[in-house]
Amino acid sequence: MPDKTRKDNHHGNRGRRYKKVDGVDTYIDFPYAEDGERDCHARVFGDWHPHQCSKRGTKEHQGHQYCHIHHPPSKAARDAKRRAKYDFEDEGRRLKWKSSDLHRVIAEKAIAHLRQEVPFEEVEEAVYAWEANCKEVEAHNAKKTD
Ligand SMILES: [Zn+2]
Repeated sequence: MPDKTRKDNHHGNRGRRYKKVDGVDTYIDFPYAEDGERDCHARVFGDWHPHQCSKRGTKEHQGHQYCHIHHPPSKAARDAKRRAKYDFEDEGRRLKWKSSDLHRVIAEKAIAHLRQEVPFEEVEEAVYAWEANCKEVEAHNAKKTD
């Protein structure tokens, strides 16, 4: 049950908050909570030494409270999303390189065919391979979520 008397700002941070009091700009200092178990459980590796995260714990995980940044399942979900994005971009680059390779093969086969070094079927095969890659590119682009 959240303590309604706690004067946390909207980030769940304790500390200073800007407020107009009787028309005058004022900073108000809010105290740290008495109930320490409501603090984010995460240790943060800051400038000089590790310290406990100063944000308010709003999400529970394995008996501890965490802020929205350090809540382990939320963090894992963010990491997985980032990894998926990198993988998607890698795949996009791979298909692009493959496409220019296949273009080069078509040109080489066409020239070789004109020199009567290879049969026309080899040119056709090169075109089919390139077309197949185009379909892969389309399928890849259709998967794009953002
Ligand atoms: Zn935290």
